[in-house]
Amino acid sequence: MSSYYENFIAETENNISAKANDMSKGGLSTAYDNSIYADQRLSKKHLGFALKQNVEELDHLLTSFDNKWQPLNGKKYWFTNYDDLLRGLRTIVWDKNVKSYFIDDKNSYLWSEIGLLSFLKREKVKENEEWPNIQFFEVNKIIADTNQFLILGNENTIKRLNNNVINVFVVGIEQVLKNIDVAELYIKIKKEQRDAEGGRLFPIFYTPSSQNRDILFILDNMRSNVMQYPKQRKALACLHCGRCNEVCPVFQCTGDKAYDNIFSGPIANILLPHLETIDDYKFVSYACTMCGNCEKVCPVSLSLRDMIMENRKFFLEKGHLSFGEKQRVKKLHKTLQNRKKLNKVAILKSLKMRKMTTKELRHSRKLTKFEKQSFNQQYIKKLKETN
Ligand code: SF4
Repeated sequence: MSSYYENFIAETENNISAKANDMSKGGLSTAYDNSIYADQRLSKKHLGFALKQNVEELDHLLTSFDNKWQPLNGKKYWFTNYDDLLRGLRTIVWDKNVKSYFIDDKNSYLWSEIGLLSFLKREKVKENEEWPNIQFFEVNKIIADTNQFLILGNENTIKRLNNNVINVFVVGIEQVLKNIDVAELYIKIKKEQRDAEGGRLFPIFYTPSSQNRDILFILDNMRSNVMQYPKQRKALACLHCGRCNEVCPVFQCTGDKAYDNIFSGPIANILLPHLETIDDYKFVSYACTMCGNCEKVCPVSLSLRDMIMENRKFFLEKGHLSFGEKQRVKKLHKTLQNRKKLNKVAILKSLKMRKMTTKELRHSRKLTKFEKQSFNQQYIKKLKETN
């Protein structure tokens, strides 16, 4: 690796720790003392708090970012969905006679979400790493108060950004951060993740310019629909690190196939019904055993179980369950609140369980086997034995 990049990384790392130590003087961190940033656990806690706060203030942050955008900062377009975004992109491809492209970090889920590769194929735009007419970058975060883009790129990203070609930057509306302090904390946590994977992180704060023909595409794609739900919208603070998938017992059995979507795992159990349609995706909110493994590993301390429960409650209250499903929920609710019923002999409970489940469910999996005695009965027995 060249010394330029070595210096760049060292400088970035020094800058992060220097700024982090200085953060207690800034607006966000007044409630915390300096040493918090030396402690990874507390850093995560603070980042989680800051990102959830960002989601709460998203309207304000987006407006502030929009108002500050200068002509100098290149062009900026808002799109409600990926079809609109691709139509906007087609106009650029046709107007500028674009024949070749380069994509920074091809594996990003954002490119799959908008279907970029298939679009470019349809438009007969060819990949050309050396001499592209257009380059695509995923913006990881936008910093509202400075109008900068934070890009977590690779060794080549900086060089690429200096190319005098059309640069298209794409970002989801939820990725706006209040200020640079939160961005640096975010880098710190991402860096820890990258280190654990054995890779290196190249954080770049980029100020767009019209001379470089920079174009920003801001994508909603139903994220504002999630914003309607005060409890579930916190899920938009997710870093998409994938750690919850690794520890989720359901995901480990089903993999991502069951989701048939670019989002999968615990976070998808909350977001998908709102990003897609409730009737098509409500089933994912029930694909959770409430074990809580995801919450233990989540770097931003998302209360995933609470949000999943909120979804279930919402589906029931807003009539998204069929008559049969509603009846089953009611019966289960009654049973779980009745000590006598819970203490019935195991065979009666198994019969009840069979009655409450659908044929499809009984065919696709083994139903729970009940212990001879309930936990309550075993506890009372133990107490009697010890006295
Ligand atoms: S652990 Fe899951 S919910 Fe938490 S940030 Fe990572 S992907 Fe998102």
